[in-house]
Amino acid sequence: MRDWNHLPVEIKRHVVKNLDFMSRHSMKSTSHVERLIVNSTCFKVPRVRFGYKQGKCLVMIYTGIEKFLRLELSKCKEGILVERSENTWDPRDITTKILPPSDVLKTGLTILKNLLAHESIIIEAMEWDIPDESPKIKYRQEILATLDNEKFRVRELVFLWNTVVLEPLIPNLCVVDDFKLLRRFGLEISGDSLVPVMIHDSQVEHPWTLGRPCYQSMFCLNGSLPITLVMHFQDRDLLLSDPKTIATVLRVASPLPQKPDRQAHSDTINWTYGNECGYWTAKMIPANEAKVKKMLDPEKCGVHYQCKNCTDPFTFWYHQNLARRFHQEPFWGDIVWQIPGFGDVEMGIRNLKIELAKDEKKKEKMKKWEKEKSWGFKEILVEKCDFKGLGQESEEVKDSGDAFYDKNFDIDAEEQPENMTIPSPTSTFSLKFFFILPILLSFMFYLIISHLYY
Ligand SMILES: [Zn+2]
Ligand SMILES: [Zn+2]
Repeated sequence: MRDWNHLPVEIKRHVVKNLDFMSRHSMKSTSHVERLIVNSTCFKVPRVRFGYKQGKCLVMIYTGIEKFLRLELSKCKEGILVERSENTWDPRDITTKILPPSDVLKTGLTILKNLLAHESIIIEAMEWDIPDESPKIKYRQEILATLDNEKFRVRELVFLWNTVVLEPLIPNLCVVDDFKLLRRFGLEISGDSLVPVMIHDSQVEHPWTLGRPCYQSMFCLNGSLPITLVMHFQDRDLLLSDPKTIATVLRVASPLPQKPDRQAHSDTINWTYGNECGYWTAKMIPANEAKVKKMLDPEKCGVHYQCKNCTDPFTFWYHQNLARRFHQEPFWGDIVWQIPGFGDVEMGIRNLKIELAKDEKKKEKMKKWEKEKSWGFKEILVEKCDFKGLGQESEEVKDSGDAFYDKNFDIDAEEQPENMTIPSPTSTFSLKFFFILPILLSFMFYLIISHLYY
């Protein structure tokens, strides 16, 4: 029998292709050959988040829907406390480890670099959750010196809507050829919805994006008429005063099939497009009309990340759940984007937290209830409300064994089997089973006997 070491490289590479992120990372440290194989096999990471705020650091690597590795670093008496969790927000599942005393930001960046700064790893979106005002970071020295000229292969770079200090670092953070888009994003929370119902985008020509587009995207939980009216006037002022803003777009995910429609206001022009995905209205000054129209015309779906059909499932899921971080990790809640006149932010966050807590409880109940139901019934239920079913998939795909074998960073999560209740088979199922089993057995018996005689 051939063992792993004697397998041809092609087969090994095939195996590596199917490994999850952490197993892949651990395999690098098994031998030189393995390391070479891993490094020559591409791996796509849908999203990475790096956060730093008030001495705390966050490294979060998403590998799929409800699949993530999360590390939170903070200073403690003995050194740096690392809290690690995987695919779950349950505080009971957090494992901890103490690293020797060192700078929290630098340690976080080193982990980020070691895990992700490699030409074999492509990051679809990298989000930097560093609020502008709080830290006194010397960005150039501290961030770039720690990364030590290593760059990430990032397609979409995401900053908080009000963070500007990171922008000059873009050419040093990303491999230029891979970089496609800068997004500065935020969440408007004045509405009752728990998922965004509208996106407001400003497209800006930006000196630091190496010619790539820059969007300022506000995901709104409020899609009411008053807020769209306020945006209309704000956009008009912005477009007339800031020549760098080429267009503003309001994207709503309610189907509205229609031909492109032009509306001229006194000093701006609106173009509205609509289809089965939703509708989107772009506003621009007359001088930019031709340029903007050229971008709008070929676009099939202008609803962007709110479109379940046109967006990849992970990106859709991620943005649908943006508000949920106020329940899961309220400390990292700096994405709130305030529109003057739309309620007090503090109170808004408090209300949102209450509503989210209620919603999570309801979800929990649903999960328990579905677990007790029969297999056949469960399928129908998941089909009916397929978005809520997403939460359930994670239970099945919870994989084990991706330990973190790094020498200087050995944070093994003990995989504890969750109290998985196996759904009890229904009476019809067991009836069928007991009915068919004897027939099956006798058929096999018949096969064996007939082979013996003929
Ligand atoms: Zn669409
Ligand atoms: Zn490592």
